Amino acid sequence: MGIRSIKELDLKSKKVLIRVDFNVPLDEEGAITDDSRIRGALPTIQYAMDQGGKVVLMSHLGRPKGKVVKSMSLLPVARQLSELLGASVNMAPDCVGDQVKKIVDNLSSGEVILLENLRFHIGEEKNDPGFAKELSELGECYVNDAFATAHRAHASNVGICDYIKDTAAGFLMLREVEYINKALKDPKRPYAAVIGGAKVSGKLEVLENLIEKVDKVIIGGGMAFTFIKALGQNIGKSLVEDDLVDTARAVMEKARSRGVKLYLPVDCVCAPDPKSGRDAVTVTIQEIPAGLMGLDIGPASAALFSEALDDCSMIVWNGPMGVFEQEPFSQGTMDITRKIANSKALTIVGGGDTDAALHKSSLVEKVDFVSTAGGAFLEMLGGAELPGVKSLER
Ligand code: AMP
Repeated sequence: MGIRSIKELDLKSKKVLIRVDFNVPLDEEGAITDDSRIRGALPTIQYAMDQGGKVVLMSHLGRPKGKVVKSMSLLPVARQLSELLGASVNMAPDCVGDQVKKIVDNLSSGEVILLENLRFHIGEEKNDPGFAKELSELGECYVNDAFATAHRAHASNVGICDYIKDTAAGFLMLREVEYINKALKDPKRPYAAVIGGAKVSGKLEVLENLIEKVDKVIIGGGMAFTFIKALGQNIGKSLVEDDLVDTARAVMEKARSRGVKLYLPVDCVCAPDPKSGRDAVTVTIQEIPAGLMGLDIGPASAALFSEALDDCSMIVWNGPMGVFEQEPFSQGTMDITRKIANSKALTIVGGGDTDAALHKSSLVEKVDFVSTAGGAFLEMLGGAELPGVKSLER
């Protein structure tokens, strides 16, 4: 069993129903503030058009929870897509129903239509078979290019595959699966995982799974303090998950017993809280003052982590090293971003905040692969089988 590529489908004159992820951020006026998700789907859309397909696009936007919410209409996306494709993209009034069916039946080869927000219908998130069947009637073949939703079993990415025989993955989906599989199954050694972010709880599966595959684990961000506490050190007011201190100890023991080198910060930038940057001080990890919290790795940690990454041939990175959104706590994340981006290793990066840090550094082009997904990237790295990928297997 495997997943077919869109290239293996005969699209000529067929209604090609494509699940894309157009869940773009909008400002208060409803303008798109970042269109990278639309750009990410362009190769698949353009290919389907070039092959003479009648292209029917569907996506969700925001969380309307089964109700029509005007501010969550995909209309601004249709306009932006039209501009990016240099071709007109019509907007359907809904994503199911007789009227939509009629519009889709009247499409010509190479034409594109965008259906209205899938989540205006409660059946989408409930993976309702009736809703999935209705969607399926809009395509003679189905392509899923929305990797970012693959960790959810919804009607448009899972249920629908019960009703359409010809299914395939789009180029974006294929690339995501290919690179995450490299991280899981095709290590280039030495291989390092760099894991940061706020909490251990969100990254536990990833840590536990990757420790079985990598040679080095580097832990930064707020989650590092649970590990530092597990070593018996004082962490002041730093973020900690007390219920996971034992788990952190077990992770360190697992790393030790497998010969995996585990790196924790040796210094940090502390302040009373993230808003009090003016009062920030850099201290060793052994000397965090009682009333302060660690909000970034310090320069000694950045140098240590960089040195550990020097000889690596493969690096997977998720999660910032500190509260990088707030000065003066971005330096550690920026140092590690530069190190990873300029590394000769195969670099695989994912997660919303990590992606934001990369964009902030303007080094995104230098990384081999940046996932468009947060949850799906983490779940797959954590060893889970994603329903939105599995449903494409034939
Ligand atoms: P995550 O979504 O788990 O990757 O966490 C990302 C968030 O972690 C970002 O918003 C950071 O501001 C936050 N973060 C990183 N380091 C720390 C820290 N030392 N203390 C508190 N929050 C942190």
